[in-house]
Amino acid sequence: SGVAEPPRIRRLEESVVNRIAAGEVIQRPSAAVKELIENSLDAGASSVSVAVKDGGLKLIQVSDDGHGIRFEDLPILCERHTTSKLSAYEDLQTIKSMGFRGEALASMTYVGHVTVTTITEGQLHGYRVAYRDGVMESEPKPCAAVKGTQVMVENLFYNMVARKKTLQNSNDDYPKIVDFISRFAVHHINVTFSCRKHGANRADVHSASTSSRLDAIRSVYGASVVRDLIAIKVSYEDAADANFKMDGYISNANYVAKKITMILFINDRLVDCTALKRAIEFVYSATLPQASKPFIYMSINLPPEHVDVNIHPTKKEVSLLNQDRIIETIRNTIEEKLMNCNTTRIFQTQA
Ligand code: ADP
Ligand code: MG
Repeated sequence: SGVAEPPRIRRLEESVVNRIAAGEVIQRPSAAVKELIENSLDAGASSVSVAVKDGGLKLIQVSDDGHGIRFEDLPILCERHTTSKLSAYEDLQTIKSMGFRGEALASMTYVGHVTVTTITEGQLHGYRVAYRDGVMESEPKPCAAVKGTQVMVENLFYNMVARKKTLQNSNDDYPKIVDFISRFAVHHINVTFSCRKHGANRADVHSASTSSRLDAIRSVYGASVVRDLIAIKVSYEDAADANFKMDGYISNANYVAKKITMILFINDRLVDCTALKRAIEFVYSATLPQASKPFIYMSINLPPEHVDVNIHPTKKEVSLLNQDRIIETIRNTIEEKLMNCNTTRIFQTQA
């Protein structure tokens, strides 16, 4: 009387489950680009080029010169949870590759149309194959190919109406894509990166392989940024914390920008660490209020077992063992550098 009958609980169809999960891994076109670039880097590429149409909604194409994919692996390449990088859960503790879930390519096939062209060393021709919902649409076709792999994603979110609409209405994702590639180019200085709008002659990012970090920053962010950077480095090593190493570049008192640029790699993964970013912003506004939106490039190395890479489906945020001590150490190092550069500046203006 008055109490409704409980609704029946049903098992969702696998295709529904997969599409829901895929929308979480690939939240926007730039997330797909990041995953594809990480796959190229994991494949040992020395060159990665990206072409994008309509902010990535029409087309994303990432080509590399990495080790390619075996013919016999093509049937399961885009199934969920297929990977060459992880076999036991314990491997996660020491994993060096950026990928490990075997979810990125699969996800793209659930929310877009994926075509892979690949060739492995010593083969006379490559193969091209298209995927939908995790499976090959037909047998791989032999084709001409240069070294490596090209992944093409078309019509992203064609089957997620709301997602597509919001993305079309918001500013397009191309600037985010350029931003990701710029960050990778600053860290992976011996890899050539380029990014262009499909059909454009001019690349919006183009980095040549170099041995100098400052050259890499210059080619992506410009000479005016490099002029105002100071090198920074700190490390400690003790029983409790094992090894911690940080090095990078931070902007000085002359660098004035509208927003902070924070390029952070932890064990060679491009990540966000909100707590660290806040701490750095705080030091800058306390020490150099005029230059409180800094440019930061920072590479941190920790024992792999101190970094939990598995807290987020996009692997974007990581959590660190002894995070407070690490942040404190970095904060102090930056503060000291900035105090020095501040006094030098005052001294120079007075002289
Ligand atoms: P993960 O990177 O987590 O393993 P992905 O879905 O991103 O999962 O990729 C699945 C597998 O496909 C990888 O483990 C790798 O073996 C292969 N692969 C993907 N992209 C490339 C590439 N560009 N070059 C060579 N192999 C690739
Ligand atoms: Mg991957």
